[in-house]
Amino acid sequence: MQPMHLTGLSQAELSDFVASLGEPEYRARQIFSAIQDRRLTSFDAMTDIPKDLRATLVERTGLSTFKLESRYVSIDGTRRYLFKTHDNFPVETVFIPEERRDTICFSSQSGCPLQCTFCLTAQLGLLRNLTAGEIVEQIIFVLNDAYGEGVQTPRGTNLVGMGAGEPFLNFENLMKAIRIINAPAGLHIFPNRITISTAGIVPRIRELATITDRPRLAISLAAPNDELRDELMPINKKWPIEELMSACKEFERSLRPAERFTFEYVMLRGVNDSDSHARQLASLLNRHRLRAKINLIPHNPAEPLPYQPSSTERVESFRKILESKRLHAFVRRPRGRDILAACGQLAARSEIGESPVGLQRSRSIVASHDVAHPRNAS
Ligand code: SAH
Repeated sequence: MQPMHLTGLSQAELSDFVASLGEPEYRARQIFSAIQDRRLTSFDAMTDIPKDLRATLVERTGLSTFKLESRYVSIDGTRRYLFKTHDNFPVETVFIPEERRDTICFSSQSGCPLQCTFCLTAQLGLLRNLTAGEIVEQIIFVLNDAYGEGVQTPRGTNLVGMGAGEPFLNFENLMKAIRIINAPAGLHIFPNRITISTAGIVPRIRELATITDRPRLAISLAAPNDELRDELMPINKKWPIEELMSACKEFERSLRPAERFTFEYVMLRGVNDSDSHARQLASLLNRHRLRAKINLIPHNPAEPLPYQPSSTERVESFRKILESKRLHAFVRRPRGRDILAACGQLAARSEIGESPVGLQRSRSIVASHDVAHPRNAS
């Protein structure tokens, strides 16, 4: 049996556990803050906790459950981490350094049950949901690798739920992880810096709107009409565009003053990127008058996906049409394509050579033995 994974416990759950050991309440606060605020990965480092309690924790609980399989570094500085869970399922997390603030992209599931035709993760199918502890653990690992254990997360660090999986099909664990991250002694990444991306699970969009301190919302659209969206994102057959728009309209009431939500639109050459698609998209979004912006994502190709990215000129022409219709549209610069870390490329590939995406193999790979494995505290 796996030891209790303390990383996934809320402060209240930790209090119950500490009480069951006959320890005073303030020990729960100390342990929570050691794990989250200070991101310590071994009980030895928790020197404010008495030795005998530490020994009990070592015996009965654990902090790290992942094994780091590989860590890849892109020529643009992006890092992709491939972990294996205790039961051997792949989990990938991406660190994207930016001039002003960094972004961490986490996974909510191992694999993904949705069958978006342009996404490599779809090829894995759903392997399993990640627990709240596993969601938090990947973020802690990446923060420690970037900033060092014990160093507070830099202000403004962004967190995006855009890795493998459909976050809204693992809603409970996701929201629990976010509550842990947001706690006062948590990871210091606040709700307005967290964005969750969904393929359009309508009931959960409505539910998210009711949650105080909710993260921001992004919706993957990929097509301006049902016919094309049915084909590219089969989930559309369950919740077609009009239902999605009506959930968005409801969600809009929960937007904070300067907040918008985001539509992501992957640009597939010759498939969804014509001027006429742009005009359809503009009229769809204008008809619903949503306070939204649009991120155009040039397709990140990977074998065996059947698509090519739209050309820079095509993307720009598409963007200009949206802009001429008073929509706010931006082009997302691909990051980490050479190490299969970009949007839609997470498929647990541990050999980059498995996919010919035009990259220099050995130069950009830091083998896993160059990095310390997460210490197993149990
Ligand atoms: N399941 C969620 C979150 C993961 S996908 C969702 O669908 O939103 C994160 C983003 O990457 C989505 O907007 C998706 O449309 C986009 N994406 C998927 N495959 C891609 C690819 N090959 N190239 C570019 N973007 C892709």
